Amino acid sequence: MKQSNIRNFVIISHIDHGKSTLADRFLEITKTVEKRKMQPQYLDSMSLEREKGITIKMQPVRMLYSLDSTDYVLNLIDTPGHVDFYYEVSRSLAAVEGAILLVDATKGIQAQTIANLDLALNENLTIVPAINKVDAANSEQIASARKELATLLGISEEKIHLISAKSGKNIEELLAAVVKKVPAPPVEDKPLRALIFDSEYDFYKGTVVYIRVVDGEIKKGDKLYLMESKTQVETLEIGYFDPKPHSSESLETGNIGYIATGLKNIEKCRVGDTIIKLPAKGWSASGGKIEPLKGYKEPQAMIFATFFPVDPNDYDGLRDSLKKLKLNDTSLIFEPESSEGLGRGFRCGFLGMLHLEIVGERLKRDYELDLIVTSPAVIYKIIDRKNSARFIHTADEFPEANRIQETQEPWVKLEVISLSHYLGSIMKLSQAIRGIYKDTKYIGQDKLIVEFEAPLSEIIGGFYDKLKSVTSGYGSMSYQLIGYRTAALVKLDILLAGEKINAFSRIVIKEKEYSEAKKLTNFLKDTIPAQQFTTSIQAVVGGKIIARETRKAFRKDVTAGLYGGDVTRKRKLLEKQKKGKKKLAKFGKINLPAEVFLKILKEK
Ligand code: GDP
Ligand code: MG
Repeated sequence: MKQSNIRNFVIISHIDHGKSTLADRFLEITKTVEKRKMQPQYLDSMSLEREKGITIKMQPVRMLYSLDSTDYVLNLIDTPGHVDFYYEVSRSLAAVEGAILLVDATKGIQAQTIANLDLALNENLTIVPAINKVDAANSEQIASARKELATLLGISEEKIHLISAKSGKNIEELLAAVVKKVPAPPVEDKPLRALIFDSEYDFYKGTVVYIRVVDGEIKKGDKLYLMESKTQVETLEIGYFDPKPHSSESLETGNIGYIATGLKNIEKCRVGDTIIKLPAKGWSASGGKIEPLKGYKEPQAMIFATFFPVDPNDYDGLRDSLKKLKLNDTSLIFEPESSEGLGRGFRCGFLGMLHLEIVGERLKRDYELDLIVTSPAVIYKIIDRKNSARFIHTADEFPEANRIQETQEPWVKLEVISLSHYLGSIMKLSQAIRGIYKDTKYIGQDKLIVEFEAPLSEIIGGFYDKLKSVTSGYGSMSYQLIGYRTAALVKLDILLAGEKINAFSRIVIKEKEYSEAKKLTNFLKDTIPAQQFTTSIQAVVGGKIIARETRKAFRKDVTAGLYGGDVTRKRKLLEKQKKGKKKLAKFGKINLPAEVFLKILKEK
């Protein structure tokens, strides 16, 4: 295939505007997936994605398409829309030349429409705009969404496609527009350079890297070299995605595909690294003349939580699992940590609460680990009596009150997009999160962007859900860190039957200590399983109990329901129970299942 017949593009939008459904239609039109095998959001292949109905990972796919009797190779990357996974979007953008920007006709422009468009324009991508879900919207909604998008892009309304990814309306036309408008990848006669934009671990093939070939060509058996990590790798297998890995003999300039490197030392493989060929013309190990590709900026972790294995023997397993998971989720960061009450674990940084929840779930499912997860926190700044500042990531590190001069917390600039009708509710909500109003801008007839400043801890603590609910689903938001500001902070501890459970400790704003304590004790009362004795649940700040609940005792005889004689059945049941018991975390005489720690993350 000639390079002039290759098109590389992504689909970007706010969450739920129909990216994965549009990808389904493209897979059908190009006969990449047989119709009888088709299922909605085909590219959301992870079980977690299917259960939650959201895209978590970017997914590349190669499609063959014929237009005006010319054959084309179309490399599409479907991306997630949730703000916690923006790093997936930004990495995929560097691998393509064009982007379909999708806007749901019933919602119009939302926060990640703008945020993702900005990312795409930064990469100089050609934008192909489309209004989706025209089957579900009335003509007024379609007209206003179209107008908003035209204004945002500074183009005439006729240039915007009106489509239904569900019914298939105008999808062929949209695909044809991609072929016509998105430029073919540039080709120059240069030695190989390929960009690693994603990776995963395969038990048999070692590290598998997802690449965009920028210059030159890769053939099976080539000896390759990673410029940044200075590591030589093999090409055990190369190929492309259709959308399952499909091996091939070569990958030419401009294409997107994968290389199975056989690399078992996972740390050597970094997303953003440049792959070259050995021996490369004009290159030597001492001072290479081949310029590495631009690569990626590391994303900034917003919140931290520590994972401890329930079974201390799983510590090494947890480390290996985190390393493997990081290959597939480069925005995850982790460092070893130990705690008096919880043993050895890893302090992990995340881009948001959903990210944390997904990582916890993936570790539990994909790697079968039972984990204790501590309460997530932002990075606080503590200034001690000697006036020296220190950043703390966990409640464990919070010093005694008498050693603190001042405490500070990170603030963000927050942009909320909504219909003007909801402005009052948004203002009220912003007060509840200690927000400071800054500005309002109209971006459509009755749509506006409201700008606030607010503490990050309030934003990650369920603000998005509240915004959704007060704006009947229309409100959306994006935010950026702006710096640290003084805040009165205290450490809230939880005692179960008099036993302090370190994982439940959290740092809270002084003025909210009572409401937080009440909420937490209440939640725990309903969540922790009954013990064999009545369990007191106490919230403590500075040695003082500020809230309490009790969980009634419960004695369960699992064999009681069985009729007398069947010994094997009885034994089986007891063995099963014993196995189940392994997954309980022990704190003094309290036993807690790993689920409790994940459940508490979702508590709003
Ligand atoms: P994504 O988050 O952008 O990938 O969105 P999905 O493709 O997962 O779609 C989100 C929801 O919108 C799903 O329930 C889809 O069935 C629905 N949807 C997508 N496209 C259309 C459309 O053209 N019309 C209607 N009525 N619903 C759509
Ligand atoms: Mg999707």
